Amino acid sequence: MERSAVKTDAIVIGSGQGGVPLAVDLAGSGKSVVLFERAELGGTCINTGCTPSKSFLAAAHTAGRARSASALGVRGDVTIDFGATMERVRGIIASFREGVQRRIESAGVRCVHGEASFVDAKTVAAGEHCFTAPLIVIDTGASPAAPPIEGLASVSYLTDKTFFAQKRLPKRVVVVGGGYIGLELGQGIARCGARVDIIQHADRVLEREEPDVSDVLERALRADGIALHLACDVVKVARSGDAIAVTLSNGTVLAADALLVATGRVPNTAALRCDAAGIALDRRGYITIDDRFHTTADGVYAIGDVAGQPAFTHVSWEDYRRVKAILAGKERTRHDRVLGYAVYTEPQVGRAGLTLDEARASGIPARAVTLPVTNIARGIEWGQELGFYRLVVDERDDRILGATLVGYETAELVHVFIALMEAGATWQTLEQMVGIHPTYGEGLPSLARLLVHG
Ligand SMILES: Cc1cc2nc3c(=O)[nH]c(=O)nc-3n(C[C@H](O)[C@H](O)[C@H](O)COP(=O)(O)OP(=O)(O)OC[C@H]3O[C@@H](n4cnc5c(N)ncnc54)[C@H](O)[C@@H]3O)c2cc1C
Repeated sequence: MERSAVKTDAIVIGSGQGGVPLAVDLAGSGKSVVLFERAELGGTCINTGCTPSKSFLAAAHTAGRARSASALGVRGDVTIDFGATMERVRGIIASFREGVQRRIESAGVRCVHGEASFVDAKTVAAGEHCFTAPLIVIDTGASPAAPPIEGLASVSYLTDKTFFAQKRLPKRVVVVGGGYIGLELGQGIARCGARVDIIQHADRVLEREEPDVSDVLERALRADGIALHLACDVVKVARSGDAIAVTLSNGTVLAADALLVATGRVPNTAALRCDAAGIALDRRGYITIDDRFHTTADGVYAIGDVAGQPAFTHVSWEDYRRVKAILAGKERTRHDRVLGYAVYTEPQVGRAGLTLDEARASGIPARAVTLPVTNIARGIEWGQELGFYRLVVDERDDRILGATLVGYETAELVHVFIALMEAGATWQTLEQMVGIHPTYGEGLPSLARLLVHG
């Protein structure tokens, strides 16, 4: 069917963390903007990612802390009303989603609810809607991958897309994948009261982190009663009465009431028909971009997960700020920034910049020091002694290159390093800081002082 394309100034595909503010700002600058969205407004973060997972973990970790408070002499049975917890989670999703809708409407962005695909490098269509623009920005994100497990399609399994719709807690849950999503949700489910088995292909959880990070996490997960099956794969799943029989590569067969698959993510590029626009994809299907987020098609940019950027909400959001600056003629690239991230297990992992191995692999002569949390008064006093703080510095000029903090609320604490690194600070700046006693923050100058005689 021949469709005539309506002219507009800009098209944004995907209402993720970068797409929405970009569409709103472009409309605010007087441009006519069309935003395509094939699912709920707000993207992964709001609907199935950060927002629901952290709202869920708020309940699970509160229960976990209350239970472990028996070591402080605090007594009492703690149970979680799973239905009420998930109702609250869905309420927060709905309110965030409504906020996005209000923002889009009040900015005058035209929203097309439909799956967008390219007609050519200047034209995008969804159903009977077809628009053409000199500027197109793709922010279509990623979706959970389905691993090649025999029988997987024949059982109804959970992913982050469906997990938060649950009303009742399954009694036995097998989590496939020991990355951050598997660990956060797995620990949360265990703390809600279910039996949890985590199956991990690598020989340690969070295999992209340093081995002692994995070690701390494994101790914490086992303390929550989670069974870890490391260096192991799920080879087959099958319905077995009301349960799911999960066969592992080591021959073990687990009975589960629910299977949660968290084995990575794939970019949402299949529906876009990038070939029609001359937009190149890499061999894993991510959109190829240059330093300035430009794709191989003139006037077409890509940001966030779909462009193979570090898959975090704050990265997609910061991508939008940079594309906006680039479109305004400023000299920005996607590389001149310090990135951090966190894993919201208990204990948390807060990361900024480079690890020692990463620094050395990129040719920087670097050294690192490590302070166990057991050396920090606050950790001992509050009974939260699991973890360590690590600082990586450049041996040539003493500048801070990175930090790994494993411990209580380290996702907050690691921001000190992100700010210091943005400022180009040396470890001596941190060493001179007078920390407040007794805090975890007081451990940071103590960590830097290990370099004085090192
Ligand atoms: C369980 C979980 C927990 C997470 N926790 C965190 C966290 O704590 N912190 C953090 O920083 N990150 C977290 N993330 C990652 C974070 O959610 C993503 O990195 C982020 O949402 C990516 O944003 P984006 O803008 O790239 O795309 P998305 O937010 O994924 O948005 C893409 C949008 O495009 C739409 N779309 C796709 N294809 C089309 C098409 N053809 N036509 C129209 N619309 C289309 C999709 O429906 C979607 O709405 C988590 C992810 C998950 C799954």
